[in-house]
Amino acid sequence: METLVTSPAEGIASAAALLAAGEVVALPTETVYGLGAAALDPAACARIFEAKDRPLSDPLIVHLPSREWLERVAVVSPTAFRLAEKFWPGPLTLVLPRLDIVPDLVTAGQDTVAVRMSSHPIFSAVLQAYGKPVAAPSANRFGRISPTSAGDVVAELGGRIPLVIDGGPCEHGIESTIVLVRDSELHILRNGPVTAEELAAFGAVRGQVAGISAPGGLASHYAPRTPLMIGNPVPSPKTGLLSWQAAGEGFARVEYLSKSHDLREAAANLYGAMRRLDAAGLDLIIAEPVPESGLGRAIMERLKKAAAR
Ligand code: AMP
Ligand code: MG
Repeated sequence: METLVTSPAEGIASAAALLAAGEVVALPTETVYGLGAAALDPAACARIFEAKDRPLSDPLIVHLPSREWLERVAVVSPTAFRLAEKFWPGPLTLVLPRLDIVPDLVTAGQDTVAVRMSSHPIFSAVLQAYGKPVAAPSANRFGRISPTSAGDVVAELGGRIPLVIDGGPCEHGIESTIVLVRDSELHILRNGPVTAEELAAFGAVRGQVAGISAPGGLASHYAPRTPLMIGNPVPSPKTGLLSWQAAGEGFARVEYLSKSHDLREAAANLYGAMRRLDAAGLDLIIAEPVPESGLGRAIMERLKKAAAR
């Protein structure tokens, strides 16, 4: 199959038509590029798993065209409602009790569904044009680095999907925060652009819960092919450095997350930098740790999964 990369002006109507026809399309979001399919159509969603080589045990996030859709797909507690009011459209995914309209394939047979509303103008325009929820995980092969540009999507899924809309680089560069809402307790299943500090105003913030499939449930995820370790920058001729602070003398290649030590910039650069290091023919990538608070927690979570083998 030929993968067409289009501008937003040319792509929005075709993307909506492909979704309606049960096909997959890759679209920019404010987090990373997503691979979308009609969420209420199990056959369409099956194509996502096929294109990504994703195991069926890994559930999909459902993206809603509007807040009105929330109560058609999930049971919405007052806390969940307040979170949606505050953070949508935006990079927060809520895991809520599902309604029957959501296919089992989407929830991996669980009694919860993950929902979000993207703030990206192109993603949102496609959803408006299509008019129904769209299931969309990141547009990469399973377990690999999420794409933050249209070129990254082609590198991951070229030849396997019909269309990519090129919306330029993604604003946040890392995946949405995922929160399981239970009564007034919030369990962060994946750290992301909406931080634990920001969520604390809406309920007691707890860690993972037993029996709930956590994002990238496997220890290894978001991973380059080159071995990656987190640690002190010890230079060597076949080693690359993903730098937070170090100058990087003596390394074969250095990528700086943010020269001004800004965690937002670091998150936005993270996956592109990992991809460039991965393409440099190195024996090892050393990633310097970043401070583990606010957005730093989300960056460290991804580095740890990239380092796991
Ligand atoms: P991504 O492929 O980056 O879009 O990641 C989607 C992630 O959302 C998956 O890895 C899932 O673990 C998580 N997710 C989706 N649905 C659920 C759910 N019902 N319960 C818990 N996590 C979910
Ligand atoms: Mg993913």
